[in-house]
Amino acid sequence: MISVRHVSKTFQSGGSTTYALNDVSLEVAPGEIYGVIGQSGAGKSTLIRAINLLERPDSGTVTVDGDELTALNPAGLRAARRKIGMVFQHFNLLSGRTVQGNVELGLEIIGVDGAERRRRSLEILDLVGLVNKRDSYPSELSGGQKQRVGIARALAANPKVLLSDEATSALDPETTRSILDLIKTINVELGLTVLLITHEMDVVKRVCDSAALIEGGRIVESGPIVSLISTP
Ligand code: ADP
Ligand code: ADP
Repeated sequence: MISVRHVSKTFQSGGSTTYALNDVSLEVAPGEIYGVIGQSGAGKSTLIRAINLLERPDSGTVTVDGDELTALNPAGLRAARRKIGMVFQHFNLLSGRTVQGNVELGLEIIGVDGAERRRRSLEILDLVGLVNKRDSYPSELSGGQKQRVGIARALAANPKVLLSDEATSALDPETTRSILDLIKTINVELGLTVLLITHEMDVVKRVCDSAALIEGGRIVESGPIVSLISTP
């Protein structure tokens, strides 16, 4: 469902070159929850941003659900990105919009009409357990509730893939577990493929089917979670 092949990305600053990604390849199967774990500076953010081409790789290819994103023109890329929902560490909600207004945002951008936007946003808010907060503003919500809104927004346009950029890193352990359980529920009930990045092994252990370890822009180990955890 997600195929990253030989992707490299460098950044130039002050005369020096950083290899944020150095020949990274990975395969995420349909319906899988795939974790990429690594320390700060390992290249996780660059990787997840390269997968939806927020950051264009210097070389290599990215394919999502059969669309080779790295080969598409801007219009093709806009269409293909509808298959990808993204969740962020700091939620990235619009403070001037209600919960429902935030969830409807992605639908507005792709031109879904008002009645359908309301129907779909309520359906998805029900799934994440926040229908009763639909008229609240982000400032009135807990961190966990904000992330539920972030997840609902990501799901509104019915993507095939969910990319999660440290979605639980700003949350306490108990809230982290509830958000991970929600991600698992979505994965099972909607059949959504999930790629998440994290610096916490507990996150990977709780929800991932497979994982890759990234260090200095390189994948140093990857495979089914059972084999990774049992490695001494
Ligand atoms: P992580 O998400 O694992 O913390 P990042 O992908 O943010 O890692 O960064 C990987 C490396 O690339 C780091 O050395 C970081 O400083 C560098 N880097 C990331 N983005 C940029 C940028 N826009 N300009 C320069 N260097 C960057
Ligand atoms: P996080 O690890 O929480 O994702 P970072 O602080 O690593 O956040 O990065 C935030 C933003 O800054 C990202 O868009 C990243 O590409 C950029 N960035 C990271 N490292 C550098 C750097 N050394 N120089 C310039 N931009 C950077």
